[in-house]
Amino acid sequence: MAALKHLTLRKAIIAACLKMNELGINQGTSGNISARIKGGFLITPSGIPYEKMKPEQIVEMDLGGGYFGNFLPSSEWRMHYDIYLNKPEGGAVVHTHAVYCTALACLHERIPAFHYMIGVAGGTNIRCADYATFGTQELSGYMLKALQDRSACLLANHGMICFAKDLDKTLWLAGEVETLAQQYWTARQMGKPTILSKREMATVLARFKSYGKQSKDLAKGEALAVEPPPRRDGPQAAAKAPARKNVRKSAAVRKPAARKRAARKTSKAKEPAA
Ligand SMILES: [Zn+2]
Repeated sequence: MAALKHLTLRKAIIAACLKMNELGINQGTSGNISARIKGGFLITPSGIPYEKMKPEQIVEMDLGGGYFGNFLPSSEWRMHYDIYLNKPEGGAVVHTHAVYCTALACLHERIPAFHYMIGVAGGTNIRCADYATFGTQELSGYMLKALQDRSACLLANHGMICFAKDLDKTLWLAGEVETLAQQYWTARQMGKPTILSKREMATVLARFKSYGKQSKDLAKGEALAVEPPPRRDGPQAAAKAPARKNVRKSAAVRKPAARKRAARKTSKAKEPAA
């Protein structure tokens, strides 16, 4: 028998499925995960519990929409397939029925820019795709529309789907989107959340291009999302510590008499108003 191709990636997909349930962002086997390979992708099979799933049961599909082997791919293979065809930057796809995402999707609601982290999905909101029966091309079409300039969307009366460059990033994104859905849901219980302006979100989105990156990971000409504090050691250390002579001495370094005067002043100031 020929050696199983892509064994490491197959194992990584199973590990991601188990992690997805461990994180509490999926119910049973309702979710499905895939990862891109040359000329196609690997996807979880239909109806096999993640704990019992074996590497050889992960299904290989090509970019013509056909599959190889004895196991049927997930019933949602069309959504995964359409993401690989239409989103060249997508290296992995996670689809789940995460509770808060699904609750909002059942109300056909998008998640607005109530929190700056909405930018993780690439825009100023996370849309909700129109409803269509699971596993249909119609659903996949609605999903693609909701994913325009986005890497995540809700699926009406169904759940959520997202993609990123690899399995780890995609699983992280799925967790972030579910957290946003939960935060939005919670805020809505107490009132109407304030939505960030388009201008503020433009600033956030510009910063998100390098969000979470270390200096060594920056592309040429790219700046860190937030200006870092000065580094004190190594070749990048700041030239010297800032001059102290113009800094007013604190009470702790003044002469004893001055310190006492300062202490009296402070305790007076602290006296509560009658
Ligand atoms: Zn589903």
